[in-house]
Amino acid sequence: TAPVQEFEYKAEMKQLLDLIVHSLYTHPEIFLRELISNGSDALSKVRFNALTDQDILDKESELAIRLSIDSKELTFAIEDSGVGMTEEELIANLGTVAKSGTLGFMQSLKEQQKELDGNLIGQFGVGFYSVFMVTEEVTVETRSARPDSQAYRWRSSGQGTYTIEKIERAQRGTKISFKLKEDYKEFAEEYRVEQIVKKYSNFVDFPIYLADKQLNSITALWQRSKNELKDEEVNEFYKFIANDYKDPLDYLPISVEGMVSFKSLLFLPSEAPPELLYRQGELENRGPQLYVKKVLIQNECRDLLPEYLRFISGVVDTEDLSLNVSREVVQSSPVMAKIRQILTSKILGWFETLAQEQPEKFRTFYKAFGPIIKIGLNTDFTNREKLIELLRFESTKTADDSYVTLKEYTERMGSEQKEIYYLSGASRSQLLAHPNLEYFQEKGIEVLLLTDPVDVFVIPSIHEYDKKPLKSLEKADIDFSKEKKDDKEPLADNLLAPVLQLFRDTLGESVEDVIESHRLVSSPVTLVSGKDGLDSQMEKMMKMMQG
Ligand code: ADP
Ligand code: MG
Repeated sequence: TAPVQEFEYKAEMKQLLDLIVHSLYTHPEIFLRELISNGSDALSKVRFNALTDQDILDKESELAIRLSIDSKELTFAIEDSGVGMTEEELIANLGTVAKSGTLGFMQSLKEQQKELDGNLIGQFGVGFYSVFMVTEEVTVETRSARPDSQAYRWRSSGQGTYTIEKIERAQRGTKISFKLKEDYKEFAEEYRVEQIVKKYSNFVDFPIYLADKQLNSITALWQRSKNELKDEEVNEFYKFIANDYKDPLDYLPISVEGMVSFKSLLFLPSEAPPELLYRQGELENRGPQLYVKKVLIQNECRDLLPEYLRFISGVVDTEDLSLNVSREVVQSSPVMAKIRQILTSKILGWFETLAQEQPEKFRTFYKAFGPIIKIGLNTDFTNREKLIELLRFESTKTADDSYVTLKEYTERMGSEQKEIYYLSGASRSQLLAHPNLEYFQEKGIEVLLLTDPVDVFVIPSIHEYDKKPLKSLEKADIDFSKEKKDDKEPLADNLLAPVLQLFRDTLGESVEDVIESHRLVSSPVTLVSGKDGLDSQMEKMMKMMQG
């Protein structure tokens, strides 16, 4: 029999394993994701080597991951046809911690009583050891893809030592096998394994088989170029990742190479989930999925998009982050900041194109998500100009169900008009009956009718468009003197003063002032607010929010 050599883990390793298995780990199912991701890495390497190196063992063999389980014996095995490991590689990779500082980091986590969640474990090159959560002893049989390689068996119970012996193995690649602890017998059940694979590894680039059945049914669509995508396929993918039963309104494939590289497939839902509109906080924890090298890292990654775009779902896959970066690292990573910046600008360009080329779709989109988009005006100052161009308004000149942009408004306003006028209220019909509108209607001056409740918070903040100030019709300081060419006899000064005084005396504290109006046509009086006063609609909203 071949001699079995015993090795000791580095001191650090013992403590590390202890931490992983006993203190920090909370999701044992992650072991499968880690083993699959290692298998996938090994397959990627052999695929690359085959491109550059003629001399490879089993050059023609299928690149795949195979799982086998036995629910009676509680055995579990995962085998790949990847690069495999030489004896030296086994010792270097499975007996030491590759990255310095890992132990210190993990200890500090424990001291802070933080959980070592699934996203963290792989970051420090310790993903493999998560298998010791679900088993007492692991066997790794491996043969390097180098043509003259030997095969080895590595075995350890994660207690401080491991053994290595030479074995016979015909094919290249690695097989990892173990017996599950009684507590984890669920992982020997077919449905459970399938579930975990679909959850974490559905888009791994190589087939994952369980007894000849391929579990990862959907391929990495976002890796394809636009003309390789079929609508039906893309729609299925959307429904799967977004948990929607309807087709998406539109999708956008993105491929970026440069300072950062990533591929992405983004979706516009066909309608907004109702809670989105009323509870802005719902956007807080949404976002596309983040993949690193085709391995799912975060399901709803809020750091990929600014909040006002987080209704967009999809996938972003980058090679520029280390596999399984932690939430904290994702958040502060300059790579993420760059990705977010590029995505945001691509998405706003997408909306613009939709508006130009598919106005019907854009209208559906804007109706559903316009109120959310507007949040961006007050939060994303870099893209403020683009967002302003996307705004759509009803006006005194738009037909039912059609809209005007600020650009169109300014293009069609008369040369003597210096301001952009708006009036805000609950509905179009209510606004059209407003006395403050009379003058403008008579003069044929277009007035924007703001009926979206969020308008009063965002539209006044635009201040001006194309050097033309935006002005609420409720403000007292609109200058009518220039436009005013009245055919009616003005009230004589000696009559006007006593009338105004009478109103002031009667209304007392309930108004700030009473002034002569040039804006009324058929109504005798109207209410306006002072130059610095709140818009009445805004006032209503504030009252509502204060409860
Ligand atoms: P990481 O994957 O982050 O490097 P792991 O603890 O998951 O850390 O794996 C440690 C190392 O063991 C890997 O980097 C790789 O060199 C080696 N390894 C693990 N699984 C396999 C495998 N199936 N085939 C080849 N090498 C592997
Ligand atoms: Mg790994």
